[in-house]
Amino acid sequence: MINMRLFLRFYEDYFRIRYFDSQNLKPLLLAYFVTYRCNLKCCYCDHAHNNHSHKFPELDTVQAIEVLKICRRGIPAIAISGGEPLLRTDIDLIIKSARILGFKPVSLFTNGLLLPRYEKILDDLDFIQISLDTINEKVQDKIFGIQHSGLTRQLIDIITFYARQQQKRHFRINLNAVLIPDQLDDVIPLYYFASKIGVRLTVCPQLLDNGQYAPALAADQKYHSTIDRLVTLKSQNGRVMDTTEFLSHIREFRSFRCYPYLTPRIYPNGDLVGPCPVIAEKRYPMLELGSWEKAYQALITDFGKNYRCPSNCFLPCYLETSTLMIHPWQSLKELFRLNIKLKKVNETELMELFKGKKPYPAGNIQPELHKNPVVTPEAP
Ligand code: SF4
Ligand code: SF4
Repeated sequence: MINMRLFLRFYEDYFRIRYFDSQNLKPLLLAYFVTYRCNLKCCYCDHAHNNHSHKFPELDTVQAIEVLKICRRGIPAIAISGGEPLLRTDIDLIIKSARILGFKPVSLFTNGLLLPRYEKILDDLDFIQISLDTINEKVQDKIFGIQHSGLTRQLIDIITFYARQQQKRHFRINLNAVLIPDQLDDVIPLYYFASKIGVRLTVCPQLLDNGQYAPALAADQKYHSTIDRLVTLKSQNGRVMDTTEFLSHIREFRSFRCYPYLTPRIYPNGDLVGPCPVIAEKRYPMLELGSWEKAYQALITDFGKNYRCPSNCFLPCYLETSTLMIHPWQSLKELFRLNIKLKKVNETELMELFKGKKPYPAGNIQPELHKNPVVTPEAP
């Protein structure tokens, strides 16, 4: 099934770009980073190494849901991300609220290690994107960057366990692999693993902190041939989730016209960042402004209807959405491939979830994150 609201929004934007060369676009996807804390320290991760969580105190539950309400007035779909979003003990309330407010699809980006603790959220998600770069356990354990034996093995078990539940519970798992020079040989085996257990694969190149590509990767023949192979697998109707346009851009690190207003990003403290996290010249506090229209108008006033990016980075969510605007028919095919199922929404369930729950505090609670980063699923 295709999400009509997203479909109409997409084509409205497409015509604005095509015939008016306008950046006055209506956003497609809200990226809400609910926390910057994480229970891992992946070797390529900016959050893990620059400790952004101290700069961005988190909102409490009620505030976080208020931000969702404000943004829902202007944006049809949501991706909840982090840091590791499952470190928030109110993540079930946030996701359920996103569903009740009518975001469609609702996606969650996670490292998956705490999923068994919150597995009920799967009933409210359309997509769950789990980071896994390789099934080579030694390599992946090293990438995770913390001392915890058998972490990758446990993650693979978790993914395999929930992959079996996708059809019945109407959600989809995408594995997301960051392409780094040391693991390029492992990407196609990862693809076959994903196919075997019935999940899909997305990739993104390792990027520098400013979203630029690492020159070593761009010069690596193995990198090019890996992308070529993924393009072929995709054309054979394989389980590659990225668009062909996206793959061809990251293969050559070709510059592209970026439309950052399509994917507004909210930081853990509730600020909308303008025009994007790389340039980050302005912040708009959503709770203070209290209205999506006001925040969006301020963004357009500050950066203009015809904003042209001075630097061109390769942040996947901006590149993927912006390049969707180049080929409308291919994009339509991609929207169909999303195959979003209708899920029933039950508002009373939210009240049930609230009952007896300790309030999630604003600020940054810092439990000892890396001591026990994984929860194992219970047998069915
Ligand atoms: S799981 Fe994600 S947020 Fe956490 S360290 Fe790894 S890449 Fe960073
Ligand atoms: S290309 Fe990168 S730096 Fe430029 S506007 Fe888009 S996200 Fe921002």
